Amino acid sequence: KAKETSGSHFEFYTDILKDSIHREFMIRNFLNRAIESDEFILHYQPIIDLKSLSIVGSEALIRWNQPNLGFLAPVQFIPIAERTGDIDAIGKWVLKEACIQTKKWQEDGFGDLSISVNISVKQLENKLFSHTVIKTLNEVQLSPEYLYLEITEESSISDSIKIQENYNKLTEFGVHFSVDDFGTGYSSLSKLNELRIDQLKSDKSFIDDLEVSKKIVDTILSIGKNLNLSVVAEGIETKEQLQYLIGNGCDLGQGYLFSKPKSSLEYEKMLKRNYFKSFLI
Ligand code: C2E
Ligand code: MG
Ligand code: MG
Ligand code: MG
Repeated sequence: KAKETSGSHFEFYTDILKDSIHREFMIRNFLNRAIESDEFILHYQPIIDLKSLSIVGSEALIRWNQPNLGFLAPVQFIPIAERTGDIDAIGKWVLKEACIQTKKWQEDGFGDLSISVNISVKQLENKLFSHTVIKTLNEVQLSPEYLYLEITEESSISDSIKIQENYNKLTEFGVHFSVDDFGTGYSSLSKLNELRIDQLKSDKSFIDDLEVSKKIVDTILSIGKNLNLSVVAEGIETKEQLQYLIGNGCDLGQGYLFSKPKSSLEYEKMLKRNYFKSFLI
């Protein structure tokens, strides 16, 4: 695009602003056709039992292969999908796809793998949410005990009646709830107990910066112990971090040290090996 006037800073920044508005506009437009065009895929990252160092579950993480925009990470489109309302349909697709895949892995003899699915607060506010989850589990014939719904601290403290009802129906049905990025928001400890939360995932920033955050990690581990919740340490990248967590009684771990999120094909190759003992040496 030719510039007639001499290039001012002002012009430069409005160009950037226009670009980002234009980009959001395109993403909004492309979003609603993305499911039918089969543009989303799930990657899976293993959740490791830190006693046996074996894979006990997987977290499903969405990616978007958009023909015009390329390969998009969830931060680039999930917040927009939450604003447009597309998150309900996307979330439904993620849940079904993740459950089908997990059922298949279980049937193929990879063990009693659980599946963790990220849920936006917007989805939980939809009064049909629990119905959708139960219907999906029934259709796929996956037992509810294998499903962990990862929610944010924001939804764990909500007083919304719809959210409460969804929780109650789903916990009654046997689905587990996990609080993601724990320690960065405002969970209330009594609420965690009241809501029958099963698991905490400590935010990866604490593990990144373990030198500085040891006391926070220790505190999260003891909250887990005292409230009888399992704790997943997210973002384990080094053997030193792993050793520390094992030494301090952390149950479960996830991170690039074990594996980055992988396509189902690559993930399955890893399931066949399922061997992380060498990480202790
Ligand atoms: P999250 O649920 O906290 O997921 C963990 C993120 O950390 C993932 O990024 C994962 O790739 C990354 N990660 C895992 N281990 C390591 C590590 O050792 N080092 C580093 N540096 N990063 C690590 P990803 O896949 O980009 O997802 C980002 C966020 O997007 C997720 O954070 C989750 O909040 C959201 N998200 C992903 N999939 C979905 C989905 O299907 N639905 C909804 N509502 N949100 C999703
Ligand atoms: Mg998560
Ligand atoms: Mg997290
Ligand atoms: Mg997150």
